[in-house]
Amino acid sequence: MGKASRDKRDIYYRKAKEEGWRARSAFKLLQIDDEFNILEGVKRVVDLCAAPGSWSQVLSRKLYLPAKLSPDSKDGDHPLIVAIDLQPMAPIEGVIQVQGDITNARTAEVVIRHFDGCKADLVVCDGAPDVTGLHDMDEFVQSQLILAGLTIVTHVLREGGKFIAKIFRGKDTSLLYCQLKLFFPVVTFAKPKSSRNSSIEAFAVCENYSPLEGFNPKDLHRLLEKVGSPSGGDDLDCSSGWLEGPNKVYIPFLACGDLSGYDSDRSYPLPRGAEGTYRSLDPVQPPIAPPYKRALEMKKASSQGIRELEKLSSDS
Ligand code: SAM
Repeated sequence: MGKASRDKRDIYYRKAKEEGWRARSAFKLLQIDDEFNILEGVKRVVDLCAAPGSWSQVLSRKLYLPAKLSPDSKDGDHPLIVAIDLQPMAPIEGVIQVQGDITNARTAEVVIRHFDGCKADLVVCDGAPDVTGLHDMDEFVQSQLILAGLTIVTHVLREGGKFIAKIFRGKDTSLLYCQLKLFFPVVTFAKPKSSRNSSIEAFAVCENYSPLEGFNPKDLHRLLEKVGSPSGGDDLDCSSGWLEGPNKVYIPFLACGDLSGYDSDRSYPLPRGAEGTYRSLDPVQPPIAPPYKRALEMKKASSQGIRELEKLSSDS
């Protein structure tokens, strides 16, 4: 699509350039804020997967610049915005930038250090892998980014804080919903107007961070470390006793979910009866006037006719 043609066809692409946003994604965060008021009262925020930086621009324009320009502004009292991405980003006023991989435990540590013991009010994550077009694969890699985001959340977010994460809607969306509900009593999957209908993306808006009693965020960090190690999750055995208290249940659930329910897209072995064969069951209520009823009657009549003719010819 040419530049001029895209200007005409995508209103958000054009408006982003008119208003000085680096990407049209800025409108997604602005619209989520319009709906859920996520920026109200926010003093510290982490922007995960931030490049090229339009969400960081929103945070700078809505939080940092008004505080800096306020007549009561005091140095050291300005909102803290930390942005992370694999890619380098051009500077944005009031935004501390970290270049790194959020699935790497070291990057998580750098972010945590920037907060110097203080907690964030909000963590946003617009992370997306390079999509392959294989929906299950894309959804899986996306869920790894969310798990990494959640690990950082459990270390830096204050109780009552909010987490916004891009998700890919797919067959395991309800599992992701349950995983997020472990930490947030209010989880809404939102689709801002500026997110194309043709895209499977949506945003999980998680409110009122309430870590479980006895939950130890260090174990989630350790999980991230193990998954990110060269041996992958091979040495990750949740039954080997390294987990304690409620983490014994929550960490395996966060890592693998509970996929034990039947999957309607798979086939399963047929249940055998006592005599070792499968007996197919009749429909509970066959249709009373199906459109093919007449065709069945004709077929039945013609095979009956053929049988009678055969009988006549064998008798004669
Ligand atoms: N919110 C951004 C904005 O408004 O400009 C757009 C984010 S873009 C859709 C997705 C970003 O995720 C890319 O810049 C990519 O580099 C980043 N990303 C993907 N995987 C990542 C990872 N493991 N660690 C850090 N960043 C990652």
